[in-house]
Order: sequence, then C-alpha cells, then structure tokens
Amino acid sequence: MFKSLKWQGFQDPDGTYQLIRRLLRENLRQFAPQYALAFVFMGLVAASTAASAWIMRDVINEIFISRDSNMVYVIAGVVMLIFAVKGASTYGQLVILSRIGNAIVAGLQRQLFSKLARQDMAYFDKTAMGDVVVRINQGAADTRMALDMVIVTLGRDVLTLVGLVFVMLVQDPTLSAFALLIMPPAVIGVTLLVKRVRKHAKMQFVSTAQIMSIIQETTIGIRVVKAFGVENALQERMDGAVANVEKQSNKIAALTARTSPLMETLGGFAIALVILYGGYSVVNLGQDPGAFFAFITALLLAYDPAKRLARLQVNLNKSLVGVRLMYELLDDTPGIEDAPGAKALSVDRGAVAFKNVEFSYGEGLALRKLSLHAEAGKMTALVGASGAGKSTVFSLIERFYSPEGGEILIDGQDVTKVAVASLRSNIAYVGQDTFLFDISIRENIALGRPGATDAEIEEAARNANAHEFILEQEHGYDTMVGEGGNRLSGGQRQRVAIARAMLRDAPILLLDEATSALDAESESKIQAALGRLMEGRTTLVIAHRLSTVRHADCIHVLDKGKVVESGTHSELFAKDGIYRRLAELQFQDGKSDTAA
Ligand code: ADP
Repeated sequence: MFKSLKWQGFQDPDGTYQLIRRLLRENLRQFAPQYALAFVFMGLVAASTAASAWIMRDVINEIFISRDSNMVYVIAGVVMLIFAVKGASTYGQLVILSRIGNAIVAGLQRQLFSKLARQDMAYFDKTAMGDVVVRINQGAADTRMALDMVIVTLGRDVLTLVGLVFVMLVQDPTLSAFALLIMPPAVIGVTLLVKRVRKHAKMQFVSTAQIMSIIQETTIGIRVVKAFGVENALQERMDGAVANVEKQSNKIAALTARTSPLMETLGGFAIALVILYGGYSVVNLGQDPGAFFAFITALLLAYDPAKRLARLQVNLNKSLVGVRLMYELLDDTPGIEDAPGAKALSVDRGAVAFKNVEFSYGEGLALRKLSLHAEAGKMTALVGASGAGKSTVFSLIERFYSPEGGEILIDGQDVTKVAVASLRSNIAYVGQDTFLFDISIRENIALGRPGATDAEIEEAARNANAHEFILEQEHGYDTMVGEGGNRLSGGQRQRVAIARAMLRDAPILLLDEATSALDAESESKIQAALGRLMEGRTTLVIAHRLSTVRHADCIHVLDKGKVVESGTHSELFAKDGIYRRLAELQFQDGKSDTAA
C-alpha cells in the first residue's frame, strides 16, 4: 500500500494529471459534438493568427522591396479576410464554450446536491454547513473554469503556438533555436509559482467555508445572537475569516501576476537576441528581410499564447483545489446503504425489539448492551436523564446510524438487513423541534405521504386539531410558513407536524415530547391530537414529563446507555429506584401537575 502510494507519487506528485484526466473523461464525451465544433473554431483562430505572421513576408518583400503596387490591394484584402475569420471564429468558440460551461456547472450542482441529500447522519455530524455550501458552489464553478482553461489552452493557445513555431522554423531555423532558449528557465519559474499558489488556494477555500458557516449560524441562531448580545464575538470571528480570505486572495493574485515579469523579461531577452542576430544577417550577410520580419511577427504573436500558457499553469492549479474538494464530496460514499439483496420491511403488527445493542458516536459508548421491547400497538415510554441515550434509540430504529453490536428487530426483521427506504416509510416521527420547510402548510403536511389528495390532507389536519388555525391564516392551506416555519407559533408547528404524521399512517410512531411549555389550550389540543395519532400504532415516546407516561403500557428507564428499570408507572413508582427519584424531583419542581 505504502509502496504503491509512493510509486504513484513519483509519477505524479499531486495527482494533478489524474485529476485533469478525470475531468476530461467525465465531461468531454457528454459534450463531444459541441467541443468538436469549438475545436474547429479554435483551429481557425490559430490558423488565422499564423497566417497574419506569414503574410508579413509578402508585405516586406512585395511592397517595400519589389514595390509592386498591385500586390498592395491583394495583401490588404487578404489581411482583412484573415482578421475577419479570426474575429468570427473567436466569437463562435466563446459562445460554444460558455454554453458547455454553464451546462457542466448545472449538471454538477444537481449531482452534488443529490449526493449531499443522500449522505448519512454521520456525514452531517462531522461536516460544517459552510464547507458543503462552498464545495457545491465553488467546486462546480472551479470545475468549469479548469475545464475551460484546459480546453482553450489545448485548442487555441497550443494550436496557435504550433502554427507560429511552424512559421518561425520555416522562415529561419537558426533564429528559432535562439528564441526557444528561454523555454527551460520559463518552465522552472512557473513550476515554483504553481506550488505556492496551490497552498494559498487551499487556505482560501477553508476560510471561505468558515465565512459561510458563520453567516449560516448567525441567521439560524439570530434569536440567541441578539438575546445574548454576541454580535461582537461573531463579528470578530467573521473579521478573522474575511481577513484571511483577503490575504490569501492577494497572495494568489501577486503570485499569478508574477508570471508577467517572468515571461516579459524572458521574452524581451529572446526578442533582443533575435534582433541582434537577425539584424546582423540582413544587414551584413544580405539575408531576405521579408523572412526576418515574418519571423519577428510570429515571435511577437507567439509571445501572448506563451504567456497565457504560463499563467494557465498557475490558475489551473488554483481551480483544481476546488475541483479536488468537490470530488471528495462526490466520492464520499454514505456508510449506510442497502445491504445487497435487501428486501423491503414487511410490517405485520410493528413490534420493536433491541437485543444487546451497542453503539458509539466515536468516543465512548452511547448505548451499552441495551435491550428493550416495544409491544405492537402499545405505548412504550423512554425516560431518563439527558444524555442517557433516548434519542440514540430513536436514531437507530430509523437507521440513521448502524448499531455496532446486537440486533434491532421490527417484527423479527433486522433493520440493518432490510431496504432503508421501506424501513423509514413504516415509521413516523414527531419531534420536539418541529422543523417545517419554507413551503405552504399544505405541502408541509403532504410530505408525510407524497401524492395525498387535498381531502386526505385536510382530514389529517382536522385529526391533528390544526384545521381551524390553518383556515384562520391569510391564505389558508396555501399560507407559506417562512423559514423553519417561523411564521407559525410553536404549538401550531407541532400540530402541522402531527398532521404530517397522521397522513403518513405508519404502523410505528416515534414521539419526542416537547420540553418547552406551551399554553394550556395548545397543550390540550396537542395532547388530544397525539392521542388520536397513537391509536393502534406501536408508539415509542421520549417523555420529559411524567404526566405523559402515566398511561404508557410500559416504561423503560434509561441510564448511561442501558435500560435499568422497566414496568408501568405504578409498578416503578412502588420500587425505590431511579424512576421514583425522577418522579419525586418533578413534584418538587411543581412541573409535574398530574404526575402522581
Ligand atoms: P438523550 O436523548 O437521552 O438525552 P442521547 O441519545 O442524545 O441522549 O445521547 C446519548 C449520548 O450520546 C450522550 O453522551 C451524547 O453526548 C452522545 N451523542 C448524542 N448525539 C451525538 C452526536 N451526534 N455525536 C456525538 N455524540 C452524540
């Protein structure tokens, strides 16, 4: 492994060529006809440029030396034609390449989002949002830029250079050798610049991602930001990241610009050499001045594409940083996928069982050989201190993560062996931080079961005690709820979420009870709605108030990732255990209005 890595490194130290090959492989074929046309135009640009140098020979020899007045018109006409062809071809090439570029960006963004949305929870646990945003936006834009550079360079600049070098070689091979003397120092200089640019581009990327994260956190957590007056602290973090991006951008700009003095100096040197030797041959050895002029013109014209080639190296490597990070996301396979040949979960009654389940988020076990049973069609409550592992139990039932040991069975089927989509379609979740998308209330409810009719949606809303307040909204069911649902109150959001779960009509219901106190009226409406939702379903409730669990068919008390007590409210209350202590604590707080 180590050996093969080293060997690869020897061939291509940074994987740059591999990356470019992949870029071309994945994009060229798709747009082959368009690229072919663009290449034709680029060929025309190159040919007309070479022709404009070539014709200098006739300008000098026919007009200035032979003094042929007829040739003046012919040459003037040809020059006009050459430049008209060059202009039209450049136009064609630009338009076609832009269209391809835009299509590539659009395609990549679709692909990247699709990949992102299918990543597993572990990915989102470890990834900052800003990072993802920058990868998707900048990565796609950089890919387009890198491809454009490679194509235009190959197509136009290299072709043009080949044409001009051909003119130079034909007109004067000795002079050509002089001109090419500058190649080695140019290559060495550019290579050194490339290395440094790559380093700074990477740092710039990281800081740009930080900026995105800070903006995102500030807008999402704006209430906390304002309430705790942490604007200044955020500003400082932002200033730091912004200053870093500015600094890196300046570094990159300076390094890129450094190709100019490098190439200008070397170019000037070559031109001076050519003039010295060429001038000497024409003046003292009586050589054809037309050929000399054609040569000098070709050399001067070659100079621009050569400079662009040098700058390309630097710019290309800057873009490739973004391309690399984008491919990282595209190649990151989610850890949770259907096992080969996974069958759909077939739910009969919906009994859930954990058998010696072990799980860790990374360090330390969140669940330690946890076993529990949730009987079909009954209500099972999970209680315990915060951090005991209740939410983790829910996440594992939905297979957001895979257990590391033991088994989780639904009607006897191992959740890791059934198709993930079929598993999740049999589960409805109502959480405490009810998240709504910024779409209409109707669409938010319809997410429970895509394709549901308006009548079904309304029935679900009625059952969730949501119908009335929805009608009171300005546009009824078509009212937009705002980002995260912020135009609705907490209690209203919760009822929309219950309606969504009603519509889903899944046999298994996961309920994470709200901790925040609602007003008495909302509370009773929600309780009534939940009561209807739970009817006939296997329900697991994470209960924060013991009032909720009094009617549970079974209560599991969790502590440090294990079930330590199980039974009904009265059974557990009779024991002198954790449950009793929790219950007594709630009486003291006066929170548990009806706990006893
Ligand atoms: P509860 O729901 O009972 O409050 P959790 O199931 O959320 O408990 O947490 C159990 C343990 O796992 C805790 O120690 C918690 O810090 C840890 N934990 C929960 N979620 C994550 C996560 N996404 N990444 C890392 N650790 C986590």
